[in-house]
Amino acid sequence: MEGFDLNKLVRESVRKLQPYSSARDEYVSDGSEMLFLDANENPFDNGVNRYPDPYQRSLKSVLAKQKGVSESQILLGNGSDEVLDLIFRAFCEPNQDNVITLPPTYGMYKVLAGINTIENREVLLTADFEPNVEEILKAADSHSKLIFICSPNNPTGNSFKGEYIKTLLESFDGLVVVDEAYIDFSKDESWVSPLKTYPNLIVTQTLSKAYGLAGIRLGICYASEEIVSVLNKIKPPYNVNQLTQQRALQRVLNQDLVKQEVQQILDERTELIKALNNLEFVSAIYPTDANFVLAKVDDANKRYQQLLEKQVVVRNRSTQPLCENTLRFTVGTPEENKKLIAILKELN
Ligand code: PMP
Repeated sequence: MEGFDLNKLVRESVRKLQPYSSARDEYVSDGSEMLFLDANENPFDNGVNRYPDPYQRSLKSVLAKQKGVSESQILLGNGSDEVLDLIFRAFCEPNQDNVITLPPTYGMYKVLAGINTIENREVLLTADFEPNVEEILKAADSHSKLIFICSPNNPTGNSFKGEYIKTLLESFDGLVVVDEAYIDFSKDESWVSPLKTYPNLIVTQTLSKAYGLAGIRLGICYASEEIVSVLNKIKPPYNVNQLTQQRALQRVLNQDLVKQEVQQILDERTELIKALNNLEFVSAIYPTDANFVLAKVDDANKRYQQLLEKQVVVRNRSTQPLCENTLRFTVGTPEENKKLIAILKELN
């Protein structure tokens, strides 16, 4: 993109901000043993009495190698929800700017727009759950700072066609955020590699899904160094705690286990789809590239309640546009899925 000027998209207050400088920002380690008397910590060692690395260098260095980016192209957050919030706060001026979201999609984009007093311009996906590029570009104006593209999309499960995302990247004057929370379940290429080509691209990922670490809260943003440095300016100094950094590092170094679990989940998904297909009250199962299946049923409220009575919690997505009478089933363990299928077969 020629003539791209990130500064024009950054909020004035953020551009002018002198960021907080934490105790650990103010010295550079040369590897010697130091006396740390700078951060008002309790000095007695219990493993977590010190503040964590504010820039999570060990974890970033592994992620950078795995993804083929530099460490300065990565920002980590307390879940990708924090990363998404930082993106709103860095680029969107309350009561002035707007973002574009593509329902049915992940509900937090709308909530974050509301929290940050940013207009949310909703452009529905097409009937086959693809972005309506023409309508999106029509909806955009000079105050449109962000488009949120969730691919694979939650709750529909499908990945969007690459050519649509490419057109948006090439035609939209703001930033395109591609939320890849479910990318590890998909055969599609991640948008991390094309970051070199698109200065207006932000890719978010998470360790909450395929990596099995929802409980530690670790979200990842890959973008240009310029974008990451803006986000670094406004992030809370120690936003990723030390226990999270340690557990995340262990897990990202164990790719074999992650891949094995992902494969098991995909095999189980195939079984679940087969079983859903055989149920009379299921009229459609939508193509999925994620660890969940969206199914159209005869009466979603009734089926949801029936499952709840059998101690099974699924997600009723019926209030989302284009999702009338749909339930979203997350793929569980083989035992959980067997149980679910047996219960579904008994419903009448
Ligand atoms: N994006 C999508 C599409 C999601 O479905 C979710 C969680 N359900 C998130 C982001 C947030 O994930 P995290 O646990 O990293 O905050």
